[in-house]
Amino acid sequence: MVFSFTTIADYHRQLQQGQITCEAAVLHYLQSIRQQPQLNAMVHLFADEALQTARQLDQRLAAGDPLLPLHGVVVTLKDVFCYAGHPVSAASRMLNGFNALFSATAVQRLLDAGAIIIGTTNCDEFAMGSTNETSAYGPVLNAADHSRVPGGSSGGSAVAVQAGLCMCSLGSDTGGSVRQPADFCGIVGLKPGYGRISRHGLIAYASSFDCVGIFGLTVTDVARVYNVIAGPDGFDSTALQMPAPEVEIPVATKQPPWRFAWLEPTLSGSIDPEIRAALQGCFEQLAAAGHTVEAVPFPLLDYIVPAYYVLTTAEASSNLSRYDGIRYGHASEGSPADLTAFYQRNRSEGFGREVKRRIMLGTFVLSAGYYDAYFTKAQQVRKRIIDETARIFRDFDAILMPVSPGTAPKLGEQLADPVAMYLADIYTVFANLAGIPAMAVPLFRHSNGLPFGLQVLTNRGNEVPLHRISAYLEAMRPG
Ligand code: GLN
Repeated sequence: MVFSFTTIADYHRQLQQGQITCEAAVLHYLQSIRQQPQLNAMVHLFADEALQTARQLDQRLAAGDPLLPLHGVVVTLKDVFCYAGHPVSAASRMLNGFNALFSATAVQRLLDAGAIIIGTTNCDEFAMGSTNETSAYGPVLNAADHSRVPGGSSGGSAVAVQAGLCMCSLGSDTGGSVRQPADFCGIVGLKPGYGRISRHGLIAYASSFDCVGIFGLTVTDVARVYNVIAGPDGFDSTALQMPAPEVEIPVATKQPPWRFAWLEPTLSGSIDPEIRAALQGCFEQLAAAGHTVEAVPFPLLDYIVPAYYVLTTAEASSNLSRYDGIRYGHASEGSPADLTAFYQRNRSEGFGREVKRRIMLGTFVLSAGYYDAYFTKAQQVRKRIIDETARIFRDFDAILMPVSPGTAPKLGEQLADPVAMYLADIYTVFANLAGIPAMAVPLFRHSNGLPFGLQVLTNRGNEVPLHRISAYLEAMRPG
């Protein structure tokens, strides 16, 4: 059976008509993974298990059972999700050899809906980074151009979807780690609103920012996965208590005129001129189609990257204090002088440079003498961003902005200058500071041959219109 994947709907039609089996689909992806090891997108492969699950799903269908919502959908998981009995390491030496004791809620919901987990994907260590170069497993290559990074931190997941190693993938988005790699790889990336998908079983980076996100080739495929995994969860008290309204499938694109805002400073400054021109062209097209598109001043933009890096490093320094190498994780060999020396050795050897830098930064901004100057200030900035964003959504349905100021950089280009790398997160960290949902929609191709798109952001709780607007934009994509 020859298999080529377009959408979950088409795959399900093929399954029902007997043109394909789940087993054949898994074999197809296993072959595809084995043929592209140079991408370095995968960390662990669960080949036998995936084939076994596929056969069980095929038997169900043969016995006349209805298709499950994600029947036979082949997915990968960023290496930050706990999946009981399977390795999870956050791409860090610190967790080398560690096996999850339980499954994350999102993972369990995927399994219950008939998805097949084929393996885990590479990422930046502890999800800290924007290029997928801080991984203990080495960098991931962008399948569109092997000299380029895929973006980060969920670079492996993005490339897995981009290069046809799976149908969909779960990532995590603390400050753009799903949307930015989706943008660099030319696929769809969703970060739902904070608390919409349970964080239970997701390795924590910065808990008040962390969101489970979804990669897919189309908005409708992402919506299908979203409908399955979103919603309240007794294991996560920060998960929203009210049920997540279902996104209609396929996502409707015909809608009354929308009111779009774009934030003035997002199209000035050091943005690639082709990205600016593409977005301006898109705004004109939307206005010509009868939608309102208005520029809105947003003087707070300059503060969002500093506020993000103060708050997330502070939370990270606290979250990562649990890795001491005593009960699990990397334990240094040899005989340390005392317990403190043992901790120091375990952590010095276990963590990579970027993680250490953030733990130190976070510890500094929380220290007694600097707490008010940095942490409290950044909290105040966050509050103002939240208030200002809510004000914008009184008059508008969505905000449109770039995902990144440039297309995928060359490997190694940003590693030497962490501040430049942090600054490039300017358009994505906004949604995490405000806690609102956002989607990266691939629309354009740069003259350098690389894909890029735009970002749609809606108000808290508005994932349904977010999907509709994104699907509408997706349908505008030339070709
Ligand atoms: N690049 C951002 C950071 O390094 C975002 C990471 C993320 O979303 N996990 O913090």
